[in-house]
Amino acid sequence: MNWPNAKPPIAVIGSIKQSELNAYVSLLNQGLPNETFVSESNLNDADKANCEIAIVANPSAEQLSKFPSLIWVHSLWAGVENLLSQCTNCSFKIVRLVDPSLSKVMSEAVLTWTLYLHRNIPAYAKQQTQRVWSSLPYCPPEDKTIGILGIGKLGKASALRLSENGFKVIGWSRHKKTISGIHCYRGQVGLDFVLKNTDILISLLPLTRSTHHLLGRKNLAKMHKNSAIINFSRGPIIDSKALPSELDSGHISHAVLDVFDEEPLAQTSPLWNHEQVTVLPHISAPTLAKSACRIVINNIKLYRKNGTIAPHVETNRGY
Ligand code: NAP
Repeated sequence: MNWPNAKPPIAVIGSIKQSELNAYVSLLNQGLPNETFVSESNLNDADKANCEIAIVANPSAEQLSKFPSLIWVHSLWAGVENLLSQCTNCSFKIVRLVDPSLSKVMSEAVLTWTLYLHRNIPAYAKQQTQRVWSSLPYCPPEDKTIGILGIGKLGKASALRLSENGFKVIGWSRHKKTISGIHCYRGQVGLDFVLKNTDILISLLPLTRSTHHLLGRKNLAKMHKNSAIINFSRGPIIDSKALPSELDSGHISHAVLDVFDEEPLAQTSPLWNHEQVTVLPHISAPTLAKSACRIVINNIKLYRKNGTIAPHVETNRGY
């Protein structure tokens, strides 16, 4: 087909609802009228074979295999482990979503659920069901240490937001970070320190070979009694077989889980009814379509200007 703008179209590919995909197509076309964004379902095989750029939201390996000329793809998500697992033989580069607005939304979620645990909301909600009028001990935020695993785009914004709200914050990442007011650690010794000294542990790590089941029996046991966990990154960072016994023994007081090994969480999962678990339906930081499209558009403009592909995922390290 002859497309306007005398350039191959930019495919928008994903396994999300067609209406959501169409909304992205429309925002992208409005924002960058000298390009032609087309949903995968409106491209024939010859068009697909010519596409050099694609915007993707959880595409399948089969969908991607129809696009042999792709030079780079822009993910609409920040986490790309799913995309990486679909492209074991792909030669294109992957640019993931790095959006300051998303970091803000995640830091808001981190603050919300940290306060939820800090102010004992699960315990007071339980007391109400039992008509119990009883105050629990209060501990000021400066006496609580929040440990953040993964001090990247989302982790750093979250660490700063917690620190602004009076919490002591410590962080852990692959490379040591210098962030004013946040003590940062790296390596196994650093991880052990964070686990041992944390009241509320928050995962904002990408899911990779090295982080899969990082929070298994051994590392969960290093946390101190009564500490709590928030998982806002990916389900398999926590070993779902190890967590229930840590909760049942009271070693871990509560887990706020936004992400799971399988999503949606199975109706039969015991996590739904576990009184020390708060189940959230993967809502801590949803992609904001308008803002994500602005980021995508800027990255495409940069590429068209001088061939620069925005910082892309290192496939070997997995993020
Ligand atoms: P990012 O900027 O790439 O940050 C990742 C952080 O994790 C970095 O600090 C990195 O260390 C650290 N890290 C990676 N592997 C490590 C390892 N083996 N040991 C220690 N530290 C390690 O990613 P981001 O944008 O902050 O996003 C983080 C994750 O959040 C995403 O991958 C995604 O899974 C999740 N997410 C969830 C939602 C939701 O709604 N639940 C929404 C968006 C994103 P270095 O800095 O040293 O490289």
